[in-house]
Amino acid sequence: MPSWFDRAAALDLPTRPFIDGRSVAAHTDTTFDSVGPRDGRVVASFPACGSDDVDRAVRAGRAAFDDGRWRDLAPAGRKHVLLRFAELVEQHRDELALLETLDTGKPIGDTTSVDAPSVATTLRWYAEVADKLYGEVAPTGPDALATITREPVGVVAAIVPWNYPLIITAWKLGPALITGNSVIVKPAEQSPMATLRLAALAAEAGLPDGVLNVLPGEGATGAWLAGHADVDKLTFTGSTATGRKVLEASAASNLKGVSLELGGKSPQVVFADAPDLDAAAEAIAWGIFYNQGQTCHAGSRLVVDERIADELVAKVSELGAGLLPGDPLEAGTQLGAMVSREQLERVVGYLELAEAEGATRPLGEPREAVAPVAGGCYLAPTVLDHVPEGARIGREEIFGPVLSVHRFDGSEAEAVRIANATEYGLAGAVWSADHGRAERVARGIRAGAVYINSFDVGDITVPHGGYGSSGFGGRDKSLHAVDQYTELKTTWRQL
Ligand code: ADP
Repeated sequence: MPSWFDRAAALDLPTRPFIDGRSVAAHTDTTFDSVGPRDGRVVASFPACGSDDVDRAVRAGRAAFDDGRWRDLAPAGRKHVLLRFAELVEQHRDELALLETLDTGKPIGDTTSVDAPSVATTLRWYAEVADKLYGEVAPTGPDALATITREPVGVVAAIVPWNYPLIITAWKLGPALITGNSVIVKPAEQSPMATLRLAALAAEAGLPDGVLNVLPGEGATGAWLAGHADVDKLTFTGSTATGRKVLEASAASNLKGVSLELGGKSPQVVFADAPDLDAAAEAIAWGIFYNQGQTCHAGSRLVVDERIADELVAKVSELGAGLLPGDPLEAGTQLGAMVSREQLERVVGYLELAEAEGATRPLGEPREAVAPVAGGCYLAPTVLDHVPEGARIGREEIFGPVLSVHRFDGSEAEAVRIANATEYGLAGAVWSADHGRAERVARGIRAGAVYINSFDVGDITVPHGGYGSSGFGGRDKSLHAVDQYTELKTTWRQL
């Protein structure tokens, strides 16, 4: 088999918008470059879709919705198309994975084994939902028959970030498509390629023209979509700052429904009676260092009983020291590049702040010492210990391979207080052999997902989303995601 380098060089890179069932020339002359974080070189140039291109995509989505070419198919018909779509994704696994790696700097071992396969799993799961969703009959009095049915919302805009482009796009596409909507995806400017390819595969699978459109572009393209009067629903995953903007754009336009999945600063709370400190250390290290820490629900805060803190920090640091970034295109690489120079600089800024705020640094190679590929964006796993209460590095989302350590006195109340001392509430974990304690603390943590004696496990059957500044307006994943993309209709029959 040719190496990943050769296969990357031979790839056909998708760059044009996908509108109304085909790859088309953009109307805009403005372009932007996607810089590959692996080596800092430009991967490809893309049109920055403007209002005209956004209008075309919305018109195509609206026409497809209005004439019923998709929503009026029998649910089993939609299921069939999504199953075929999943099959094609599987057949093109390596190509999708490579596009994703070139865009984001993720290790090819991850994109081939996690990111691309999970798209197929997600599509297949939602395909099977299509013909198993029932409506309801309301418990009215004897003189009426009232049914409650779901209808698709119409034209959905999905604005997606760069950290898990394929996975997050699939979380939106699965439930939006099986319920009969048209979708316009705006991938992040750092990572449009795999999504553009996905749209072509959907068309090949038999998805009717106009039902799925993909617009490469920067923030402005997303802003056009968020403010568009003929978009019925906006599903957004990204930063809290941009989440606020799209919410304002909805309010200022047509009050389209908005679902926001935003940042996090998830705590892993470890008590002195944790059943297995080695297992905890492993889950803590992977929970923050995987994907170079660029995960919204990353376990970025370790809240640890001071009696075991030194031992646990040493274990996590030892694991982190063995996880130095490597070339994303080498099969054995475990940690790849950070997505962009800008993101790398942001995280380095936080490391400087950590020093000013008085944290110690038991782990963290200097940035210059880690350069598996010249010109790339790499940062070694870093642990910041003794983070003072209230410090910014302990409250703000750093979005890099940086763990902040907070020691507590061993009491449950103190653990929960520190765990909740952030505006976010996406995930959390509690490690304790005492079941009652684990349950109490799990209940006390204000977050959309809490893990007991584990972290970041799960599957498509459970919802993903958060409390507080981590977002609102529904959940991704699981059957609950269907709520994002459907309206409830009551039909009352007076007998
Ligand atoms: P980050 O700051 O980490 O890049 P963003 O939240 O800005 O995260 O990006 C997530 C997605 O939101 C991307 O697709 C990006 O292009 C898009 N985006 C950025 N600014 C806006 C905006 N003002 N309106 C709508 N979408 C935007």
